[in-house]
Parts: sequence; structure tokens; C-alpha cells
Amino acid sequence: MTPRVRALLGPVLMTTLVVGACGPEGGVHDIAIVDGLVIDPETGLFDRVNVGIRDRTIVTMSREPLEAERVIDATGLIVSPGFIDLHEHGQTEESYALMVRDGVTSAFELEVGTGDVAGWYAERQGGQLVNHGVSVGHIKARMEVLDDPSEGLLPAGVGGSGSANEEQMAAMEAILRRGLDEGAVAVGFGSAYTPGADMDEIERMFAIAAEYDASVHIHIRNGVAGLDSTIAAARSVGAPLHVVHANSSAGEAIDEFLARIQAARDGRQDVTTETYPYGAGMTEIQSALFDDWRSWPDERFREHQLVSTGERLDRESFARARQEGGTVIIHGRTDEMTRTAVVSPLTIIASDGYIEDGRGHPRTSGSYSKVLGRYVRDERALNLADAIRKMTLMPAQRLEGRTPAMARKGRLQVGADADVTIFDPLAVIDRATYEDATIPAAGIPYVIVAGTLVVDGGSLTDARPGGAVRAPLR
Ligand SMILES: [Zn+2]
Repeated sequence: MTPRVRALLGPVLMTTLVVGACGPEGGVHDIAIVDGLVIDPETGLFDRVNVGIRDRTIVTMSREPLEAERVIDATGLIVSPGFIDLHEHGQTEESYALMVRDGVTSAFELEVGTGDVAGWYAERQGGQLVNHGVSVGHIKARMEVLDDPSEGLLPAGVGGSGSANEEQMAAMEAILRRGLDEGAVAVGFGSAYTPGADMDEIERMFAIAAEYDASVHIHIRNGVAGLDSTIAAARSVGAPLHVVHANSSAGEAIDEFLARIQAARDGRQDVTTETYPYGAGMTEIQSALFDDWRSWPDERFREHQLVSTGERLDRESFARARQEGGTVIIHGRTDEMTRTAVVSPLTIIASDGYIEDGRGHPRTSGSYSKVLGRYVRDERALNLADAIRKMTLMPAQRLEGRTPAMARKGRLQVGADADVTIFDPLAVIDRATYEDATIPAAGIPYVIVAGTLVVDGGSLTDARPGGAVRAPLR
């Protein structure tokens, strides 16, 4: 280990592999990763160990030389469990191709989710770049039941702002139950996008998730006050709660927001949260988030950048875009707010990204490399082991109660799934920008998904080994 790499580790307890091999002795592996610095956040391993992979699984960890069809020389590189992104709307090859070069090996769409879980998995059958999974979404159920006019991700009318009668509530419950029976890994919510859904409705839908031991992944409304009522609703029905993007939901109240989550955890409630490492957000301009736009002061429009053209908006161009539809980037949070969210021991790193037709938010392409390059290496605001834990073990643990397959991910151990990200701690960095979100991250030369290289020497391969991650069917 070089002194510069050692300095990145910070004050961590370092565990070394018990000398000798774990796993089967001898035999040829599909892939051997040799001479890298291997990190496993669950056991605390942080040591130079050779890793042998066979049949999609890590089968050997040893100081001895390993025989393999393909040997990867990882000298000077960190060998980590593949990163797990709990919040990725871009569930297409276009987005996967950028995320995987940022080290992501499993991508989940859990906030918005889908109304048709079986159909969602069927569309992705036959292999993708990364492992993938989905929630059944209350937003989507509401759009369907209330007959929202939007064809996009989010409601643009009655599905968001309308209120549901008893019959419609029952229909939504039925959609959630069906999705969970079909193996949805969680239940998605966006009360900020569905102002017509009062807390009684939200709590009633949380209760369905609780029946299935499924976590609820929610984009809350109304900042800290909204967080309080959401925590109370989850507690009253016993639903495991995951609050998406604490950074953007809290804004300048980030310290208080995180303190409320810590207080709930101290009270033994199952509450987790996440952040992406950027000062700007992105969403659809026709969504309910902007329903009050007519009352905004002129200067607020400038904080909004239209994704299709890159232009900053004013009152007139905002009104036009709101009419026509599209995606908008919302600038405004300070570096300090972002840093507070990124370094908190409570936050999982999750991108909230998607790229469509070459356009989107740089968080799709750079969330993980930005944390490792900027916050760990350049600013020393976070140590490497803690950063890796936020990208691997913590998201795996969030889902493994309902989805046992996740207990084999987020770990680098004999018997774990061979999803592995290998990066250069001195070179890893995001490169995507708000103007061009499709520039891949640098410093991540190898990514292995299900025992197969999908990034080799920094370039994508033709392999599509990523499979469905799904809760047991009922
Ligand atoms: Zn989102």
C-alpha cells in the first residue's frame, strides 16, 4: 500500500485475511484478481488478497497465486464489492452503459417503480449490463387508477393532485399487492408528486408494504415537517422506511433532517436514507413540484435549466416549457449542504439518475466516482472504507430482509455474488457535467457483473450478464 493510499483510509480498523486460503483449494478460476487491495465492509477486511471467481461466485480469497482463464493485475487498485444504486430511473441500456463505468453493478428503480412488476422484469429478460430490480409504485398505481394524462415518469394532473375515493383506494391497494406478489423488492412513493394523497392514504399504502416486509422508498413533501409525518405514518403501521435523497428533500435544513432520522433510529424504528453528491436536482417540469410557479419571484426561474437545450429559464420560457413538457435541472444547494449529506454516516449513496437520448443529469454517470475522487481523495471529507460501505453493504442490507438474494451482494467474501468494481484510488473521478451528462467516469478500469467482465480496461465489453433481482414470488 502506498503512503497516499494509506492516507485515504483514515482511522479505520483494518482487518487482514487469516493467512491461508478460504474456499476451494486449487482448480482453475474463470477470473483471478491478483495483487489488489481488497475491501469488504462487512468483515472489515482491507488487505492485499487474491480473489478467484468461478460460475458467477467468489470462490477463493487467498494470498497464494491463483490459476485462472483470465488474470487481472490489480496492483495499486482497490477491489471492492460492486456498487448498488437504490435509486436509478434510467433502466435502459443507455443509462446502464454510463452507470456501470461509474462502478454500479446493481441498479434499482424504487422511488417511482412500476405498476406492472411482471412486465417490467419480462422486458429486461435475457441479460442486461447490470443486475436490476424494481418496486411497485404508489405513484404509478395512482396515475393508473385516477387516469392521469401523463405518459411520462410522473403525474401531470389528476394522478398527482386529485383525491381518491374509497373504491380508488382499494384499487391502488390491489395494484400494490399484485406487484408484491410478483416479486417487487419494495414499494415506491412520492408524496411530493402526489399532493392529492393525504397522509391517511399514504399510511394505508404503507400498511400494504408492512404486510410484505417491504421497505417504502419515498420522496417526501414539505421538508422536515413532512419527514416527521412520514416517520410517524411508517411507525404506526410498522413499515420499514427509506427516505430518498435527503439532500434535495432537506435543502438547507439538512442537519435537522438527518437528526430526525437518527432520532427515529435511536427509537428502534427501521429508517434509512440516501443522497446523491450534487448541488442540483432534476425532475419533470409538468410535475406537481412546480404547481406554485406563478407565485415565484423572477430570480427563482434562473435556477432552472432545461435539459433538452441546456438553457437557463426565465418566467416566459418556464411557462412555455411547463406547457410543452420536458425535464429541468434545479440548481440552488450549496457545496456545504451536499458535503453534509455525503459524509453523514446515515446516508447511502444513490444516484437518482437517468439519461435519455443523450441528455440528463451528471449524477447518472458520476455519483460514485465523484464521492471517491472528490470527497474521499481530494477533500478527505470521508474515509475510503466508509464511502465503500455507503455504496455496497448499506444498500444491500436495506433490501435483504425482503429479498434474500441481496445478502450475497454488497460483500466481497467467499460465497458472495461475483459483482466486483476495481478502481484506482488516485485516479477515480467523475467527468460528466450539467452540459454533457454522458461523459463516463475515469479511473474504474474493471467491472465484473455476475462473474463476467462488463468493463475491461475502461471500455464496455459485449457481455450482458446482469440478471433480475427479485423478491420471492407468492
Ligand atoms: Zn428520483
